[in-house]
Amino acid sequence: MAMRVPETTKWSCVPCNGKAILIKYGMARIRTQATMTHELMHLWIWKQGLALSEKVEEGLCHLISYMWLEQYVAENEQIAHVFFR
Ligand SMILES: [Zn+2]
Repeated sequence: MAMRVPETTKWSCVPCNGKAILIKYGMARIRTQATMTHELMHLWIWKQGLALSEKVEEGLCHLISYMWLEQYVAENEQIAHVFFR
């Protein structure tokens, strides 16, 4: 489910019981994808039934988002090297 959220909405990760992921409209593509990665990690943790502290869960979600960004940059550097040799 995709919903448009007002620009004035303050952001933090809100428990959604796996029914929706809210993504701010109008963000850059890479930020949207990194945010989706973060939110999907919350969903995965919830689906696994893991009882993590809020800080640990948030940290894991940030970590997986960071890892996705790192992979994205690495893949795009390889593409850049092919085009700009
Ligand atoms: Zn989060």
